[in-house]
Amino acid sequence: MSSMTALVYVLEEQVRDLLREKGSSRLIDGTAYGFDDWTVFHAYTEQPFTTPSGYVCTCIVVRSDAMGLVDEEKTLAEARHRLDSDERPVIVLIASSDATGSPSCRALVVTRAGVTGADTRFVPRRSELYTRNTGLLETSALAAKRVLIVGLGSGGSPIALELARAGVGHFTLIDFDRLELGNISRHVCGVNDLGRFKTLAVRDQILQKNPYAQVSTMEVNVNQALSQVDEAVAGCDLLIVASDNDQSRFNLNQMSLNYNKVALYGRAITRAAGGDVLRVRPWKGPCYNCIFSSGLVDGREEEMSQKRQALSVLPAYVEEDKINSMIQVGLSSDIAPIANMMTKMALVELSRGIETGISTVDEDLASDFYVWANRREEAYGNWPRMGFKWTHPSILRWYGARVDRDPNCMVCGSHITEDSVI
Ligand SMILES: [Zn+2]
Repeated sequence: MSSMTALVYVLEEQVRDLLREKGSSRLIDGTAYGFDDWTVFHAYTEQPFTTPSGYVCTCIVVRSDAMGLVDEEKTLAEARHRLDSDERPVIVLIASSDATGSPSCRALVVTRAGVTGADTRFVPRRSELYTRNTGLLETSALAAKRVLIVGLGSGGSPIALELARAGVGHFTLIDFDRLELGNISRHVCGVNDLGRFKTLAVRDQILQKNPYAQVSTMEVNVNQALSQVDEAVAGCDLLIVASDNDQSRFNLNQMSLNYNKVALYGRAITRAAGGDVLRVRPWKGPCYNCIFSSGLVDGREEEMSQKRQALSVLPAYVEEDKINSMIQVGLSSDIAPIANMMTKMALVELSRGIETGISTVDEDLASDFYVWANRREEAYGNWPRMGFKWTHPSILRWYGARVDRDPNCMVCGSHITEDSVI
């Protein structure tokens, strides 16, 4: 145990809940997690709302009685009794109301060497998180917005996290994959989350950034749970599609048009040579089908990130190492520009009509379809090197492409009207 004064973080809301109880002083079991040679602790009077980290240690919580009194000696005796044979301290939280009725909490760290006081810090209540804009979240303007993200892999997971940082308050996450060892390097989640559904692991990451975000998850295959997904699309403000198969995107395109919801589609192409992002403003611009059934983007083969995908396109006799060479070829840094572009476009869409300071980006993003040139490979094989000339096409840049609604589109063409599909 270091000689520095220990720091104990406590959720203000939990202490308030505890103090709402009346009657005599009461001792309850909390939970605490210690870090860094037992100098920092996160203590909870009830279960934490998100997956905690750190080394678990015993925590006892005592609430003062109506007179504001606590039998400290009895509490400390109990704490000493809970010490076990290893060096783990026991954290004691003493919750009381101060003269003005505000909650206060004192923390003590009990070890075999004795009892030391700790600095206690409150993690503020929800309402204060939102008024203190400069604190946890970039803005509170987006707290009421609902985002539906389909696909929580290397593309979808960083978008979810960025939107949480920006203050988006409601998420629905859809994916039926679990986190595998091979995903870790490109995913926001790490080895601690191996084997978990990506939806649930990403939910916990979102809550780390915005503890009060509302996150619901659906561990379903979009193509096999159409009515469930349909309901989720109907309830969102923005649909973000980072899924890894075309069929799901065609299904989601139909739903986004049915409910008149703006949708963003993004993907990396083979070996992450580049990528593209499509924004669909239903009935106002091209839909997913207008672009991807037209042959306009032929030859841009999609990046594969899962063995399941590779298996679906390869003959059965292909050996394992060939499959492995088809997946995981793009680096996280190859995916990042595409996720970042989608995040920016998402924030523009979500900010329509509210002041968030990014409104001018809307004027800049005049196109509905953007192409990212990443490496001089595949579609960009014969492009010039990135030189000094600003007027030449180059890798590591975005290009807006002029795309129009296809009057013969089977989904949104002129023979189909907005009214006829709803
Ligand atoms: Zn169309």
